[in-house]
Amino acid sequence: MSGIVVVGAGQAGASLAARLRADGYDGKLTLIGEEHAPPYQRPPLSKKYLLGEMPLERLYLRPESFYEDNGIDLRTDCRVDAVDTRERVAILGSEALRYEKLAFTTGAVPRRLPPAIGGLLGGVHVVRNLRDVDRIAAEVREGGRVLIVGGGYIGLEAAAVARGLGMEVTLVEMAERVLQRVAAPETSEYFRALHREHGVDLREGVGLECLTGETRVSGARLTDGTELELDLVIVGIGVAPATELAEATGLVLDNGIAVDTFGRTFDPHIWAAGDCASFPWRGGRIRLESVQNAIDQAELVARNMLGAEAPYDPKIWFWSDQYDTKLQIAGLNTGYDRIVVRPGESAGSVSHWYYAGDRLLAVDAMNDARAYMVGKRLIDGGRSADPAAIADPATVLKGLLR
Ligand SMILES: Cc1cc2nc3c(=O)[nH]c(=O)nc-3n(C[C@H](O)[C@H](O)[C@H](O)COP(=O)(O)OP(=O)(O)OC[C@H]3O[C@@H](n4cnc5c(N)ncnc54)[C@H](O)[C@@H]3O)c2cc1C
Repeated sequence: MSGIVVVGAGQAGASLAARLRADGYDGKLTLIGEEHAPPYQRPPLSKKYLLGEMPLERLYLRPESFYEDNGIDLRTDCRVDAVDTRERVAILGSEALRYEKLAFTTGAVPRRLPPAIGGLLGGVHVVRNLRDVDRIAAEVREGGRVLIVGGGYIGLEAAAVARGLGMEVTLVEMAERVLQRVAAPETSEYFRALHREHGVDLREGVGLECLTGETRVSGARLTDGTELELDLVIVGIGVAPATELAEATGLVLDNGIAVDTFGRTFDPHIWAAGDCASFPWRGGRIRLESVQNAIDQAELVARNMLGAEAPYDPKIWFWSDQYDTKLQIAGLNTGYDRIVVRPGESAGSVSHWYYAGDRLLAVDAMNDARAYMVGKRLIDGGRSADPAAIADPATVLKGLLR
């Protein structure tokens, strides 16, 4: 009997399977994940879980019994090795699993440091899954010296947690400023100052030349000539969509598995969602790495697998926690030409509004839930707000929603 096979049991895979059942699909449903744990949320890995403030069970997206109770054949520790689109089977070791429809929800894989500069030494870690973070946690100790490579969200969150755990932290960012790829200079400035206030030795425009050590890392040489003694290295230099299997399957790739607005690939029986998928957006194609996208796109794919034919209209938002700062982002800032800064009501609270001409594109809100909420509602509704009104602290933000 064939049914639906979901490859990858992360945020998107679990959401897709759950939505299929919630919408009445009662056929065979198999959710396959190569990790040991049942589907879990990744954001706390670089935040409360690494800090030791969140127990393992709270990471799980649903109770373990959920899958059996809902007739979802969840296979953990199980990797899909190949997909044969002519026979419509997924190959898992010696098993061939027939499918009527199949979804790729394979996520993303972290970029690693090249072996030639010490990337394979012990004590050098990426932060993508539970195993990575459990290994880091086992090596963290108060007073230990950690080098964080990369000043994106993962690197900055790891730096905040490491300081919280009493480590000496150096962070290097090769680009001119932290968060350069994703945020305006004003937002970079906010987080640069925040980390320095908390004692991070944050260096921008400085790269890693090489790590040193016999089998385990013991030091690093930076491009500015600095030599560091180290106990631990955390690498946060971005991810690439997990497309190896899709490529071997013969699917079209374009910065991820290329899907149409319904989440379908060029093979009418195969779909994709989450970090691994790129989809049409505003005349181009984008791929988003966020929880909200993974859930929304996966749920849309589930509905479309059942015949809905609904197009994807992403409502983009993201967050990051560092020390006592909550950053909330609404919208996508691509193509902005100016920033409007709006001070918040309390110390450390501020929002940065991205505009292209008079069109509002995105908002970064630091400890300012109201600015985030208003910005998100405007952006989701395809509306803008007069930049002068935003810049004026006397403007009542909620009034802009009327
Ligand atoms: C440390 C960290 C912090 C983050 N913080 C935030 C945040 O604050 N806010 C936010 O919005 N987003 C955050 N993200 C991003 C967010 O977690 C991802 O966008 C989301 O998990 C994507 O879901 P996904 O299902 O597409 O991929 P994943 O959750 O990565 O799941 C994919 C799964 O598929 C498995 N898989 C791959 N290939 C195979 C195969 N062949 N066979 C079987 N299984 C396979 C993988 O092992 C993985 O378990 C964070 C990510 C990380 C790593």
